[in-house]
Amino acid sequence: MEFSPGISYFFGRLGQAFLAPGSHISLLSLSSALFIAFVVLAARRYRKGRRIRLKALLRALFPKHVVMSRSSMADLGYFFFNLFLFGIIFGWAIFSYETLSRNAERLLTAAFGPLPPAPLPGFVSRSIITVMLFVAYELGYWLNHYLSHRIPFLWEFHKVHHSATVLTPLTNFRVHPVYMCIFLNILAISIGLSNGVGDYLLGQQAAQFGLSETNLILVFFIYLYVHLQHSQVWISFTGWLGHVFMSPAHHQIHHSRDPAHFNKNMGSCLALWDWMFGTLYLPSAEREALDFGVEPDRAHAHTVRGELIAPFASAASVLKARLATWLRRAPRPPVERKPAY
Ligand SMILES: [Zn+2]
Ligand SMILES: [Zn+2]
Repeated sequence: MEFSPGISYFFGRLGQAFLAPGSHISLLSLSSALFIAFVVLAARRYRKGRRIRLKALLRALFPKHVVMSRSSMADLGYFFFNLFLFGIIFGWAIFSYETLSRNAERLLTAAFGPLPPAPLPGFVSRSIITVMLFVAYELGYWLNHYLSHRIPFLWEFHKVHHSATVLTPLTNFRVHPVYMCIFLNILAISIGLSNGVGDYLLGQQAAQFGLSETNLILVFFIYLYVHLQHSQVWISFTGWLGHVFMSPAHHQIHHSRDPAHFNKNMGSCLALWDWMFGTLYLPSAEREALDFGVEPDRAHAHTVRGELIAPFASAASVLKARLATWLRRAPRPPVERKPAY
Protein backbone atom coordinates (compact mmCIF):
# COMPACT_ATOMS: atom_id res chain seq x y z
CA MET A 1 0.00 0.00 0.00
CA GLU A 2 1.33 3.48 -0.90
CA PHE A 3 1.16 6.26 1.71
CA SER A 4 2.05 9.90 1.35
CA PRO A 5 5.53 10.72 2.81
CA GLY A 6 3.93 12.50 5.82
CA ILE A 7 1.81 9.49 6.77
CA SER A 8 4.70 7.06 6.21
CA TYR A 9 6.92 9.24 8.42
CA PHE A 10 4.25 9.30 11.14
CA PHE A 11 3.74 5.52 11.14
CA GLY A 12 7.52 5.01 11.04
CA ARG A 13 7.91 7.16 14.16
CA LEU A 14 5.00 5.38 15.84
CA GLY A 15 6.47 1.94 15.10
CA GLN A 16 9.90 3.06 16.33
CA ALA A 17 8.40 4.48 19.55
CA PHE A 18 6.48 1.34 20.47
CA LEU A 19 8.56 -1.45 18.97
CA ALA A 20 12.22 -0.43 19.41
CA PRO A 21 13.19 -2.09 22.72
CA GLY A 22 15.34 0.90 23.78
CA SER A 23 12.63 3.49 23.06
CA HIS A 24 11.38 5.62 25.96
CA ILE A 25 7.84 4.26 25.48
CA SER A 26 8.38 0.77 24.04
CA LEU A 27 5.58 -1.74 24.52
CA LEU A 28 8.10 -4.00 26.25
CA SER A 29 9.02 -1.37 28.85
CA LEU A 30 5.35 -0.47 29.37
CA SER A 31 4.57 -4.16 29.94
CA SER A 32 7.44 -4.36 32.41
CA ALA A 33 6.09 -1.32 34.33
CA LEU A 34 2.59 -2.81 34.32
CA PHE A 35 3.89 -6.12 35.65
CA ILE A 36 5.84 -4.41 38.46
CA ALA A 37 2.83 -2.26 39.42
CA PHE A 38 0.61 -5.35 39.35
CA VAL A 39 2.95 -7.32 41.65
CA VAL A 40 3.36 -4.39 44.09
CA LEU A 41 -0.40 -3.78 44.37
CA ALA A 42 -1.14 -7.53 44.73
CA ALA A 43 1.52 -7.89 47.46
CA ARG A 44 0.05 -4.86 49.28
CA ARG A 45 -3.44 -6.39 49.26
CA TYR A 46 -2.02 -9.73 50.43
CA ARG A 47 -0.19 -8.09 53.35
CA LYS A 48 -3.41 -6.38 54.43
CA GLY A 49 -5.19 -9.74 54.32
CA ARG A 50 -7.43 -8.70 51.42
CA ARG A 51 -8.39 -10.99 48.56
CA ILE A 52 -6.36 -10.56 45.37
CA ARG A 53 -9.01 -9.95 42.71
CA LEU A 54 -8.03 -9.19 39.12
CA LYS A 55 -10.93 -6.76 38.70
CA ALA A 56 -9.93 -4.74 41.77
CA LEU A 57 -6.29 -4.62 40.63
CA LEU A 58 -7.24 -3.46 37.14
CA ARG A 59 -9.48 -0.78 38.66
CA ALA A 60 -6.57 0.42 40.81
CA LEU A 61 -4.19 0.45 37.83
CA PHE A 62 -6.55 2.10 35.36
CA PRO A 63 -8.97 4.27 37.37
CA LYS A 64 -11.75 5.58 35.15
CA HIS A 65 -11.40 9.16 36.43
CA VAL A 66 -7.73 9.09 35.33
CA VAL A 67 -8.06 7.33 31.97
CA MET A 68 -11.04 9.40 30.82
CA SER A 69 -9.88 12.77 32.21
CA ARG A 70 -9.31 15.84 30.02
CA SER A 71 -5.75 15.91 31.32
CA SER A 72 -5.06 12.40 29.94
CA MET A 73 -6.57 13.38 26.59
CA ALA A 74 -4.22 16.39 26.46
CA ASP A 75 -1.30 14.04 27.28
CA LEU A 76 -2.33 11.85 24.36
CA GLY A 77 -2.46 14.88 22.06
CA TYR A 78 1.00 15.97 23.17
CA PHE A 79 2.31 12.42 22.70
CA PHE A 80 1.34 12.37 19.01
CA PHE A 81 2.43 15.98 18.53
CA ASN A 82 5.88 15.40 20.03
CA LEU A 83 6.27 12.07 18.28
CA PHE A 84 5.86 13.88 14.99
CA LEU A 85 7.89 16.92 15.99
CA PHE A 86 10.79 15.27 17.83
CA GLY A 87 12.92 14.63 14.72
CA ILE A 88 12.48 18.25 13.66
CA ILE A 89 13.29 19.65 17.13
CA PHE A 90 16.33 17.40 17.22
CA GLY A 91 17.57 19.27 14.17
CA TRP A 92 17.18 22.57 16.04
CA ALA A 93 19.84 21.61 18.58
CA ILE A 94 22.38 24.41 18.25
CA PHE A 95 25.09 22.43 19.96
CA SER A 96 26.28 19.35 18.14
CA TYR A 97 27.15 16.44 20.39
CA GLU A 98 29.87 15.17 18.01
CA THR A 99 31.57 18.59 17.59
CA LEU A 100 31.61 19.25 21.34
CA SER A 101 32.99 15.77 22.02
CA ARG A 102 35.78 16.17 19.44
CA ASN A 103 36.69 19.68 20.67
CA ALA A 104 36.77 18.61 24.33
CA GLU A 105 39.18 15.80 23.45
CA ARG A 106 41.36 18.14 21.36
CA LEU A 107 41.41 20.77 24.13
CA LEU A 108 42.50 18.21 26.73
CA THR A 109 45.20 16.87 24.40
CA ALA A 110 46.49 20.42 23.76
CA ALA A 111 46.48 21.25 27.50
CA PHE A 112 47.90 18.04 29.00
CA GLY A 113 49.43 16.22 26.04
CA PRO A 114 48.23 12.92 24.63
CA LEU A 115 47.74 10.02 27.04
CA PRO A 116 48.99 6.55 26.11
CA PRO A 117 46.06 4.28 25.18
CA ALA A 118 44.68 2.74 28.40
CA PRO A 119 45.52 -1.00 28.46
CA LEU A 120 41.91 -1.94 29.12
CA PRO A 121 39.89 -4.68 27.50
CA GLY A 122 37.16 -3.35 25.19
CA PHE A 123 34.43 -4.52 27.57
CA VAL A 124 35.86 -2.44 30.46
CA SER A 125 36.32 0.72 28.33
CA ARG A 126 32.77 0.39 27.02
CA SER A 127 31.43 -0.12 30.55
CA ILE A 128 33.25 3.00 31.80
CA ILE A 129 31.95 5.17 28.96
CA THR A 130 28.41 3.76 29.47
CA VAL A 131 28.47 4.86 33.13
CA MET A 132 30.01 8.25 32.24
CA LEU A 133 27.38 9.02 29.60
CA PHE A 134 24.54 7.92 31.89
CA VAL A 135 25.80 10.22 34.67
CA ALA A 136 26.18 13.05 32.11
CA TYR A 137 22.58 12.48 30.93
CA GLU A 138 21.32 12.59 34.50
CA LEU A 139 23.25 15.78 35.28
CA GLY A 140 22.05 17.46 32.06
CA TYR A 141 18.47 16.42 32.86
CA TRP A 142 18.69 17.77 36.42
CA LEU A 143 20.29 21.07 35.32
CA ASN A 144 17.70 21.71 32.61
CA HIS A 145 14.88 20.82 35.01
CA TYR A 146 16.33 23.04 37.76
CA LEU A 147 16.66 26.02 35.40
CA SER A 148 13.11 25.42 34.12
CA HIS A 149 11.81 25.77 37.67
CA ARG A 150 13.99 28.65 38.83
CA ILE A 151 13.94 30.97 35.76
CA PRO A 152 10.42 32.49 35.41
CA PHE A 153 10.69 32.74 31.59
CA LEU A 154 11.53 29.02 31.28
CA TRP A 155 8.94 28.03 33.89
CA GLU A 156 6.15 29.31 31.60
CA PHE A 157 7.11 26.54 29.12
CA HIS A 158 7.77 23.82 31.70
CA LYS A 159 4.46 24.65 33.45
CA VAL A 160 2.74 22.73 30.63
CA HIS A 161 4.12 19.46 32.06
CA HIS A 162 2.96 20.42 35.56
CA SER A 163 -0.52 21.37 34.41
CA ALA A 164 -1.41 17.64 34.21
CA THR A 165 -3.99 16.93 36.91
CA VAL A 166 -3.56 13.13 36.68
CA LEU A 167 -0.40 11.20 35.89
CA THR A 168 -0.05 8.45 33.27
CA PRO A 169 3.09 7.28 31.40
CA LEU A 170 1.99 9.55 28.54
CA THR A 171 2.41 12.62 30.80
CA ASN A 172 6.12 12.17 30.15
CA PHE A 173 5.45 13.49 26.62
CA ARG A 174 3.47 16.51 27.80
CA VAL A 175 6.36 18.93 27.25
CA HIS A 176 6.37 22.17 25.29
CA PRO A 177 8.59 22.28 22.13
CA VAL A 178 10.59 25.21 23.60
CA TYR A 179 11.34 23.15 26.74
CA MET A 180 12.33 20.20 24.55
CA CYS A 181 14.62 22.35 22.42
CA ILE A 182 16.51 23.73 25.46
CA PHE A 183 16.66 20.25 27.02
CA LEU A 184 18.23 18.72 23.91
CA ASN A 185 20.87 21.47 23.74
CA ILE A 186 21.82 21.09 27.41
CA LEU A 187 22.01 17.30 26.91
CA ALA A 188 24.23 17.76 23.84
CA ILE A 189 26.61 19.85 25.98
CA SER A 190 26.75 17.52 29.00
CA ILE A 191 26.94 14.26 27.02
CA GLY A 192 29.25 15.69 24.33
CA LEU A 193 31.77 17.00 26.89
CA SER A 194 31.62 13.78 28.90
CA ASN A 195 32.24 11.70 25.78
CA GLY A 196 35.23 13.89 24.87
CA VAL A 197 36.72 13.44 28.36
CA GLY A 198 36.10 9.68 28.10
CA ASP A 199 37.81 9.45 24.71
CA TYR A 200 40.81 11.41 26.04
CA LEU A 201 41.20 9.35 29.22
CA LEU A 202 40.63 5.96 27.61
CA GLY A 203 42.70 6.83 24.57
CA GLN A 204 40.17 5.23 22.29
CA GLN A 205 36.74 5.89 20.83
CA ALA A 206 34.84 3.40 22.99
CA ALA A 207 31.15 3.12 22.17
CA GLN A 208 28.64 2.89 25.01
CA PHE A 209 26.50 -0.20 25.56
CA GLY A 210 23.01 0.54 24.39
CA LEU A 211 19.69 -0.76 23.19
CA SER A 212 18.28 0.89 20.05
CA GLU A 213 20.91 3.63 20.60
CA THR A 214 19.71 4.38 24.14
CA ASN A 215 22.20 4.07 26.99
CA LEU A 216 21.81 0.62 28.55
CA ILE A 217 21.66 1.91 32.16
CA LEU A 218 18.94 4.38 31.17
CA VAL A 219 17.03 1.55 29.46
CA PHE A 220 17.30 -0.49 32.68
CA PHE A 221 15.66 2.32 34.68
CA ILE A 222 12.97 2.86 32.01
CA TYR A 223 12.02 -0.80 32.36
CA LEU A 224 12.22 -0.67 36.15
CA TYR A 225 10.40 2.47 37.29
CA VAL A 226 10.58 5.54 35.01
CA HIS A 227 7.06 4.89 33.58
CA LEU A 228 5.67 4.51 37.10
CA GLN A 229 6.90 8.00 38.04
CA HIS A 230 3.93 9.24 36.00
CA SER A 231 1.27 6.98 37.49
CA GLN A 232 -1.01 6.78 40.51
CA VAL A 233 0.93 3.82 41.94
CA TRP A 234 2.79 4.76 45.13
CA ILE A 235 6.19 3.05 45.19
CA SER A 236 8.62 4.94 47.41
CA PHE A 237 12.29 4.56 48.17
CA THR A 238 13.21 5.76 51.64
CA GLY A 239 16.49 5.83 53.60
CA TRP A 240 19.74 5.65 51.63
CA LEU A 241 17.93 4.17 48.59
CA GLY A 242 15.78 7.32 48.42
CA HIS A 243 18.92 9.49 48.48
CA VAL A 244 20.32 7.72 45.42
CA PHE A 245 17.34 6.68 43.25
CA MET A 246 14.30 8.67 42.11
CA SER A 247 11.40 6.38 42.98
CA PRO A 248 7.95 6.86 41.41
CA ALA A 249 6.79 8.55 44.64
CA HIS A 250 9.69 11.06 44.43
CA HIS A 251 8.42 12.30 41.05
CA GLN A 252 4.76 12.23 42.08
CA ILE A 253 5.77 14.59 44.92
CA HIS A 254 7.48 16.77 42.30
CA HIS A 255 4.05 17.20 40.65
CA SER A 256 2.28 17.96 43.93
CA ARG A 257 0.36 21.21 44.50
CA ASP A 258 1.51 21.40 48.12
CA PRO A 259 3.93 24.40 48.40
CA ALA A 260 6.19 22.24 50.63
CA HIS A 261 6.88 20.11 47.55
CA PHE A 262 7.59 22.92 45.07
CA ASN A 263 10.94 22.75 43.23
CA LYS A 264 11.87 19.40 44.78
CA ASN A 265 13.03 16.09 43.25
CA MET A 266 14.15 17.28 39.82
CA GLY A 267 16.24 14.27 38.82
CA SER A 268 15.32 11.63 36.27
CA CYS A 269 16.47 8.16 37.42
CA LEU A 270 18.82 9.32 40.18
CA ALA A 271 18.08 11.38 43.29
CA LEU A 272 21.82 12.02 43.77
CA TRP A 273 21.87 15.53 42.28
CA ASP A 274 18.84 16.59 44.32
CA TRP A 275 20.56 15.27 47.43
CA MET A 276 23.81 17.07 46.56
CA PHE A 277 22.17 20.42 45.69
CA GLY A 278 19.58 20.48 48.47
CA THR A 279 16.41 19.89 46.43
CA LEU A 280 15.63 16.36 47.64
CA TYR A 281 12.30 15.60 49.34
CA LEU A 282 12.13 12.04 50.61
CA PRO A 283 8.72 10.40 50.22
CA SER A 284 7.26 8.47 53.13
CA ALA A 285 6.80 4.71 52.97
CA GLU A 286 3.01 5.06 53.22
CA ARG A 287 1.05 6.73 50.43
CA GLU A 288 0.76 10.52 50.77
CA ALA A 289 -2.44 12.17 49.53
CA LEU A 290 -1.36 14.47 46.69
CA ASP A 291 -3.18 16.82 44.33
CA PHE A 292 -1.55 17.45 40.96
CA GLY A 293 -1.67 20.36 38.50
CA VAL A 294 -0.80 24.04 38.24
CA GLU A 295 -3.81 26.39 38.01
CA PRO A 296 -6.10 23.48 37.03
CA ASP A 297 -9.17 25.70 36.79
CA ARG A 298 -7.70 28.33 34.48
CA ALA A 299 -9.31 29.07 31.12
CA HIS A 300 -8.26 26.80 28.23
CA ALA A 301 -6.58 24.21 30.48
CA HIS A 302 -5.68 21.03 28.55
CA THR A 303 -6.37 22.61 25.15
CA VAL A 304 -4.03 23.48 22.27
CA ARG A 305 -4.58 27.16 23.02
CA GLY A 306 -3.85 26.75 26.74
CA GLU A 307 -0.95 24.30 26.62
CA LEU A 308 0.81 25.11 23.34
CA ILE A 309 0.16 28.75 22.37
CA ALA A 310 -0.50 30.52 25.70
CA PRO A 311 3.01 29.78 27.12
CA PHE A 312 4.53 32.03 24.40
CA ALA A 313 2.32 34.95 25.51
CA SER A 314 2.94 34.38 29.24
CA ALA A 315 6.71 34.00 28.69
CA ALA A 316 6.67 37.29 26.70
CA SER A 317 4.80 39.00 29.60
CA VAL A 318 7.47 37.76 32.02
CA LEU A 319 10.20 39.20 29.77
CA LYS A 320 8.33 42.50 29.41
CA ALA A 321 7.90 42.85 33.17
CA ARG A 322 11.59 42.08 33.73
CA LEU A 323 12.61 44.61 31.09
CA ALA A 324 10.39 47.30 32.65
CA THR A 325 11.94 46.65 36.10
CA TRP A 326 15.42 46.77 34.64
CA LEU A 327 14.71 50.05 32.82
CA ARG A 328 13.34 51.61 36.03
CA ARG A 329 16.51 50.61 37.87
CA ALA A 330 18.93 51.64 35.10
CA PRO A 331 20.89 54.84 35.95
CA ARG A 332 19.43 57.84 34.15
CA PRO A 333 21.71 60.13 32.11
CA PRO A 334 22.58 63.34 33.97
CA VAL A 335 20.24 66.29 33.19
CA GLU A 336 22.05 69.04 31.35
CA ARG A 337 21.86 72.28 33.27
CA LYS A 338 22.11 75.67 31.61
CA PRO A 339 24.86 77.82 33.13
CA ALA A 340 23.46 80.60 35.34
CA TYR A 341 24.61 84.06 34.25
ZN1 LIG B 1 9.23 19.98 36.87
ZN1 LIG C 1 6.71 14.69 35.44
